[in-house]
Amino acid sequence: MALRDRPSPNHGPRPEGTAVDILVLHYTGMLSAEAALDRLCDPAAEVSAHYVVEEDGTVWRLVDEGRRAWHAGRGAWGDVGDVNNRSIGVEIVNPGHEYGYRPFPQAQMQAVIGLCQGILARHPIPAGNVIAHSDMAPARKQDPGELFDWPGLARAGIGLWPATDAHGPVWDGGDDQVAALLARLGYDPTIATFTETLAAFQRHWHPEALGQPADAETVRRLHSLLAQSGR
Ligand SMILES: [Zn+2]
Repeated sequence: MALRDRPSPNHGPRPEGTAVDILVLHYTGMLSAEAALDRLCDPAAEVSAHYVVEEDGTVWRLVDEGRRAWHAGRGAWGDVGDVNNRSIGVEIVNPGHEYGYRPFPQAQMQAVIGLCQGILARHPIPAGNVIAHSDMAPARKQDPGELFDWPGLARAGIGLWPATDAHGPVWDGGDDQVAALLARLGYDPTIATFTETLAAFQRHWHPEALGQPADAETVRRLHSLLAQSGR
């Protein structure tokens, strides 16, 4: 995989002794790759990511992995409140829900997979900590969204996907059970409503149910993910 450098000034030091144990995937949500790269390298914008992956598979390195890039913003995953301290951020070029959300091309997904496999080889990132931006900020973010090929990533050893034959406690018909399972997986119940958190879960792990109420399949998938992640 060819890496091109396009250094961004928007980064700082990681706190000393901090392990990198979260991988956050985004979409750029802008009209073009060039516009996104310009913004992520603009000192006035004060945002960045470690990498940007274009739709043709070109991968840009903006910030060294040893540095703290400014991609995650407010939010939380598990017991981590400052996700930037502990994460690598990858921006995947797509206009996003605001400008014409569209499927991620095969060449782009192959590049994302190669890039993420390298990141996972360099850092102790548990499979359950490969997350969407929307997972750590369900009230603010939708990216990379329900068209992203999370099952394809999981087949390539990146992140989790629910097994089809999972067994666990059945759904009791209420939202409280679902809310408790979402919190165990890593969602912070104090930063978003149940509906927002459920939508974030659906975008990542149950896209065909996006916008629908929780159901028995939601609970089945959550149990499978929890079992795989040991949470
Ligand atoms: Zn994002």
